[in-house]
Amino acid sequence: MIPDAETAPLNAFCVDLEEWFHAFGISGKYTDPVTWDDAPQCVVGDTEDLMRLLDDAGVRGTFLTVGWVARKYPDLIRRLAREGHEVGCHSYWHRLVFELSPEEFDRDIGECVGLLREITSQPVDTFRAPGFSVTADALWSYPIMRRHGITTDISIVPAKRDHGGIAGFPRDPFTMETDEGSIVCFPVSVMHLAGRTIPFSGGGYLRLFPLSLIKAGFAQNHRVGRPGMSYIHPREVNPDQPRLPRPAIWRPMALLKYLKYYVNLKSTRPKLAALLREYRFGTVAEVLRRHPPTSTVRLALRPATGTRAGFELLPSAS
Ligand SMILES: [Zn+2]
Repeated sequence: MIPDAETAPLNAFCVDLEEWFHAFGISGKYTDPVTWDDAPQCVVGDTEDLMRLLDDAGVRGTFLTVGWVARKYPDLIRRLAREGHEVGCHSYWHRLVFELSPEEFDRDIGECVGLLREITSQPVDTFRAPGFSVTADALWSYPIMRRHGITTDISIVPAKRDHGGIAGFPRDPFTMETDEGSIVCFPVSVMHLAGRTIPFSGGGYLRLFPLSLIKAGFAQNHRVGRPGMSYIHPREVNPDQPRLPRPAIWRPMALLKYLKYYVNLKSTRPKLAALLREYRFGTVAEVLRRHPPTSTVRLALRPATGTRAGFELLPSAS
């Protein structure tokens, strides 16, 4: 079925542009950034494969790029920009935001957006945190993002996850006022299933779930006029990617993560092609032009109590 260009809902298609060894939660030979140059490199070939898939469907997407990848392969990033894809920031060193200090985050995001702007000669104003790691304890990162010219953030999964995720967070795009200016938050798509709220449209969920369940997730969102968002990593279209070491059986959480990284890799490409045929997709900026945020809230950060900092989303004064 070819989606109707006028009436079909527009969804965002995102690529978290990073190497195969940037996967979280399993340590291996290439965990330390000093070893990254020695690792087998797959990102250029895998990204070109994804670009062909998008080209075949006439789709332009948003490529959230790790600074280290951009530094190593600037031609790839220039080509993405030249071909009409949106280039956004996925941090320089791909570290979890909630594990960084505000000063470390400030340096990292500054280094990444500066480099991407230099390479593309374009504004770079969209950010996704590695591992969706803007948690309730890491909302201090918003004013810092804004200071670096980020005006759209797509880091938050409005559901509970193993790392990242804020249960109960708004699901529609909205404007968040911070002390440094406002940012549009476009949360990652989730669906209700068997009494739980879960992501369905990207990464391991997209690989694990049958197409019928993914379509049910899109339908739930579209029924209330909410755009969907899919995301994928270049490594996920490459079944022959090098493997991280398999964790021992007595580390069940790491083993589960390992299995999640590699489940259904062979079927990801055809599943993505089917989704790209079924729905209309565009860049994050295109989707937000069509679905501008309809509400504004003010981010109020509370000082840490015990080990946790807090936040409130208050009605905007303006
Ligand atoms: Zn990532």
